[in-house]
Amino acid sequence: MIGDPSVGKSNLLMKFAHNKFTEEYQATIGVEFGAKNIEINKKIYRIQIWDTAGQENFRSITRAYYKNSVCAMVVYDITSRKSFENIVHWIEDVHKESPKTISIILIGNKIDLEDKRIVSYDEGNEFAIKNGIIFMETSAKSGEGVDEIFKKSAEEIEKKIQQKFYDLNSET
Ligand code: GDP
Ligand code: MG
Repeated sequence: MIGDPSVGKSNLLMKFAHNKFTEEYQATIGVEFGAKNIEINKKIYRIQIWDTAGQENFRSITRAYYKNSVCAMVVYDITSRKSFENIVHWIEDVHKESPKTISIILIGNKIDLEDKRIVSYDEGNEFAIKNGIIFMETSAKSGEGVDEIFKKSAEEIEKKIQQKFYDLNSET
């Protein structure tokens, strides 16, 4: 999970893994971890999610973090133009640091705040199409779309396993 501070990364993870949402902002310290089992094509996969923390201001997420990921969830806040503009930089970092096979999912979060929306669905969608990535909108508060983003990421990874981009018997 990457993206500007306060876009809702930690709450998306919490909602998915523990069905919890917190109103007050709690800065994440270090790197937080969540995991949950998901079923795709009658097989159970355990998804491991790393939530970036604190360093977001400096985009100095460690290389190991990028290197060992198979999917990047790049999150912005639909009520913040700035968080959407910064998406290009986050994606730049992914391209620089992650394996070429990585899947990227663009997530516009906080759609429960429709009256404060600044970034339209179409803008997010067009950006995703131009950059060849997947786009979805969510609300960590209402839960709308949350299961879907993780299911989608798992399906993308599963596709790449089938295409033998990843070898499950290998350590790396
Ligand atoms: P992070 O810094 O990206 O990890 O963001 P957090 O998950 O800590 O959330 C930052 C703030 O936004 C907190 O006050 C959350 O309650 C709030 N927040 C996160 N997701 C949503 C959402 O979908 N809707 C609304 N209304 N608030 C949200
Ligand atoms: Mg956080």
